[in-house]
Amino acid sequence: MNVLLSIEDLYLNFTTFWGTAYVLNGINLQIYEDEVFGLVGETGCGKSVTSMSILKLLPSNAHLSGKIIFEGRNLLELSENDMKKIRGKKISMIFQDPMSSLNPLFKIKTQMVDVMKLHHNISKDEALKMARELLEAVKLPDPQRVLESYPHQLSGGMRQRVMIALALSFNPSLLIADEPTTALDVTIQKQILELILELKEKYHFSVLLITHDLGVVAETCDRVGVMYAGNMVEIADVEELFENPLHPYTQGLLSAIPDPRYKKPLKPLRGNVPSLLNPPPGCRFHPRCDYMKPICEKEKPELIEYSKNHYVACHLYGGKRNE
Ligand code: SF4
Repeated sequence: MNVLLSIEDLYLNFTTFWGTAYVLNGINLQIYEDEVFGLVGETGCGKSVTSMSILKLLPSNAHLSGKIIFEGRNLLELSENDMKKIRGKKISMIFQDPMSSLNPLFKIKTQMVDVMKLHHNISKDEALKMARELLEAVKLPDPQRVLESYPHQLSGGMRQRVMIALALSFNPSLLIADEPTTALDVTIQKQILELILELKEKYHFSVLLITHDLGVVAETCDRVGVMYAGNMVEIADVEELFENPLHPYTQGLLSAIPDPRYKKPLKPLRGNVPSLLNPPPGCRFHPRCDYMKPICEKEKPELIEYSKNHYVACHLYGGKRNE
């Protein structure tokens, strides 16, 4: 499979009133063409800022280093003008709350037509036709009614479909979906995830799916990366990760999922997520880890390929790159 996007040793710090927050601590990951890559972890682990780093949509107090290679170019070296040709076009994004992206004061028709006209340099009639076709592609039952509606007149699921239609309008190579179903009812969640998978097959783009929900990962993703406190701790094919989790944090996440088939007690992870203003040295998971060794407090474990296509960053498995 060809690599579409490669993140290499990505570090991100924020200068804040309280000190420096060490938000991303050397992230490495690759997203292949035509795959769904899931990024999971607890709130604040760095999933969303990883996607914002890809799009270079960070506040002025952010300091980013490393490489993000997309279609052969390092995005971190591109000018803002060049990024505008990629952001929202070759790399599109949908968010948890579509209302944050749609303007409540304008009809869907106005918002879609404006975007199409501006970016595709087409007439109003052509833009309207394109908008209608895209709404059909995302399976909105009455596209004309949707076009004539204001955002508040649509359900959450319908608004998310409109956002997906807008994202598709640029024929992206990569769709970043940041918790796209978290705010929706369970039945609608399933429909939206199925829609994303169908569209991915039809239009051949890759998906970076950011979620805290391992159930969503199991149903949707080809591969998954597990993040903890700004580190990528494990990457594997989805089946492999669920059957053979290596990292103690991944094992903890999986044992905290309720399984309705068994009445076994849940085993929550002990302790709390560390502050990124003063993260633990060495392995950032060590204060919560039952398998901690002396080296864990001193040396950050590197992400190594422990078995074929299964990567882990933990001293239990070596934790040093093979040079
Ligand atoms: Fe636990 Fe050490 Fe592995 Fe970190 S590196 S997860 S502290 S065993």
